[in-house]
Amino acid sequence: MKDFTGKAALLALSIMPLAAFASHWSYEGNESPEHWSQLSDEFKTCQKGMNQSPIDIDKTLNAHLQPLDIHYGKGPDVVLNNGHTIQATVDPKATDSITLDGHSYLLQQFHFHAPSENTIHGKHAAMEMHLVHKNAAGEIAVVAVMFDVGAANAELDKLWSVMPQQAENSSPVKSSLNINKLIPEDRTYWRFSGSLTTPPCSEGVTWLVFKHPLTLSAAQLAKFTHTMHHDNNRPVQPVHGRVVIE
Ligand SMILES: [Zn+2]
Repeated sequence: MKDFTGKAALLALSIMPLAAFASHWSYEGNESPEHWSQLSDEFKTCQKGMNQSPIDIDKTLNAHLQPLDIHYGKGPDVVLNNGHTIQATVDPKATDSITLDGHSYLLQQFHFHAPSENTIHGKHAAMEMHLVHKNAAGEIAVVAVMFDVGAANAELDKLWSVMPQQAENSSPVKSSLNINKLIPEDRTYWRFSGSLTTPPCSEGVTWLVFKHPLTLSAAQLAKFTHTMHHDNNRPVQPVHGRVVIE
């Protein structure tokens, strides 16, 4: 905190903890995913929603989807530990985007969950990356990449080497990161409708999950899980009437 003096500082100190508490959620204890809908009126969709994420990708329908139209150039500038995940933030003036159904969706940020949130035929990957995009109408599309434990990922190290160990801390990304190296060469994917996987669990999110995983080393996975202190995946949610297409 900075630039607060006198009464303003006292007021800010008395209000801020309450505001922070009102929107607090976690992956453990009394604020774990099964309690999210009780933590705030704004989180009711987490329980009432019928199109919640993540899901188990099991039965799929072949709709002959075209390869994803991806335009990633400039990488992220900053890596943030927000207490829930490690998030790489892209310069808002950058033009990293995907084109979906004729509309451009700009990349906002990408972040990580371990183990994976979506599962494939009931199995978790070691880690899942979510690239979060938004179109001009404010609609969200998330591109997901699975990571299995195997060879180390050099591109990931550009983030991991500056990963803040303390929550609410951020660091500049020093070496320029090529996001194209954090997605598989084979861009076949599953598509389905879902939600944010964190409160407020808003629906209407288009999910695009690459079928082919990348790898990270056991040490890279350990660095992430050690920094997070616990798993940061929401359990899979009922599919209800949704169809997963490929
Ligand atoms: Zn996510």
